[in-house]
Amino acid sequence: MLLGRMMTQPLSIASLIDHAARYHGGTEIVSALTQGGFERVTWGSVAQNARRIASALVRRGLEPGDRIGTIAWNNRRHLELYFGVPGAGMVCHTINPRLSPDQLVFIVNHASDRMLFIEQTFVPLIAAVRDRLASVRGIVLMGPRDDQAAAALPGLLFHDELLAEGDPGFPWPAVDENAPSSLCYTSGTTGNPKGVLYSHRSTMLHALAANQPDGFAVGAGDSLMPVVPMFHVNAWGAPYMAAAAGARLVLPGPRLDGESLARLIDAERVTIAAGVPTIWMGLLAALDAGVATAATMKRTIVGGSALPPSMRAAFRDRYGVELIHAWGMTETSPLGTVNAPLAKHRGLPAAELDRIRNGQGRPLFGVELRIVDAEGTVLPADGETQGELQIRGHWIVDSYFGEEKPALTWDGWFDTGDIATLDPDGFMVIRDRSKDIIKSGGEWISTVDLENIAISHPKVANAAAIAARHPKWDERPVICVQKRLQSDLTEAELLAHYDGKVPRWQVPDRAVFVESLPLGPTGKVVKAQLRAEYGEVLWDEEAAALKAEAEA
Ligand code: ADP
Repeated sequence: MLLGRMMTQPLSIASLIDHAARYHGGTEIVSALTQGGFERVTWGSVAQNARRIASALVRRGLEPGDRIGTIAWNNRRHLELYFGVPGAGMVCHTINPRLSPDQLVFIVNHASDRMLFIEQTFVPLIAAVRDRLASVRGIVLMGPRDDQAAAALPGLLFHDELLAEGDPGFPWPAVDENAPSSLCYTSGTTGNPKGVLYSHRSTMLHALAANQPDGFAVGAGDSLMPVVPMFHVNAWGAPYMAAAAGARLVLPGPRLDGESLARLIDAERVTIAAGVPTIWMGLLAALDAGVATAATMKRTIVGGSALPPSMRAAFRDRYGVELIHAWGMTETSPLGTVNAPLAKHRGLPAAELDRIRNGQGRPLFGVELRIVDAEGTVLPADGETQGELQIRGHWIVDSYFGEEKPALTWDGWFDTGDIATLDPDGFMVIRDRSKDIIKSGGEWISTVDLENIAISHPKVANAAAIAARHPKWDERPVICVQKRLQSDLTEAELLAHYDGKVPRWQVPDRAVFVESLPLGPTGKVVKAQLRAEYGEVLWDEEAAALKAEAEA
């Protein structure tokens, strides 16, 4: 008997941009330019330019699998590389421009990047380390010809000249869907950064699954503003989702302060955005100052670190913007969970619904979660038991770039390094990162909880809780607080704010006020630096007190 068959087409990134060009070719892509002002192009021209870039790379001898680095903001040329480089069968390696020169050199060498595309801003940075980048054969300035830049970097090429010499009808080469498409390094808050090599297939499945109605839910009628940088986990896949959906994109360029974003949202009628909580803190302050109204913005995906419940409430109540909490990491492409309520939650009392919506949400189709104890025994998903969070699925890392051995447990799960609870419906709450959680007398205290309480105080701009060394309890919580401008907040006032919100033994021992919290390259608080600075504040006092007690 002759059995039927369905077509097989590889899940390729080129097919995404082809779709956008074919059916949404006139839809606009707006980019904020580094030097100021805006540029408006369309999916149609981005698609043509992606082919031009691909052909120019092939013509210059670059080969399938070659890594092409980018050091750039969110803008149109970067978008062309997002599609053109993987379209040509090469790997788009997005590099964080805020890395130290040594880290940058490490990453480029580790990835053996053959070519680098850089914004003009980074010409001096690259010129200073050029002779340490042995694998790099060519550097391309993302713009028109610029003689001053060319003088700083001999042999410099220009993006716009590659476009001019490129072929807009370049036929995409056939790619295997399991071939690599892009590469992103973890920020390396502990040890050297590690590379995660995404495939066409993992990227496509992630983009399709994360854009379901209970995910990003971006449609052709939306104007999507990815504030999350394009150098950070493919901007959470937002550009790929936008191409599949035919959405309009608003790319904010280098200015991510609240005021610039607020103005951009109103001017470009942004309907949905995505970014880390620190960004939205800035935006909230700008909206509160009356810079803009964000009237068109209906919802926004927030993740990368915990979304403070007070911020969710402020956006909802004052501006009608629903902040949707999501969780993920570089190793998970990044989306693992998104917070969307279930039918049974309809009609719940507001406080009960808030409790569910403040968490990190539930797994998208395509990934599974579990929690385990230190021995690896699976723990119950009862909404209360805390354990180490593990994940597996279609867009989860198997092994890091350049490493033979899998990065997984013996039974094929990836250990996230997060401590979480899971409930029977899959709703997950991150309690902490395992390296940040405070272990006080054998009990765990969640820094996330302590921070959320501090941030809900009207005189607090931002806060981070850390474990400080303690002679009796091993570790005790200290809260590092950045006050709002001109606020007269005192330590006693802040600590009193914890009354009734956590058990007494979880209340921080001290609050220390800081000018500003140290932020890492992706806008997250660098707790290691705070621990180095304030990790000993309790030790001397407490040790002296204990000694006096013993002597008495
Ligand atoms: P880095 O390790 O440099 O922060 P990632 O961007 O991959 O790199 O960060 C992933 C981590 O960020 C997660 O393991 C988790 O600890 C944290 N994270 C991400 N989203 C959330 C969230 N919604 N709530 C709390 N923590 C989060």
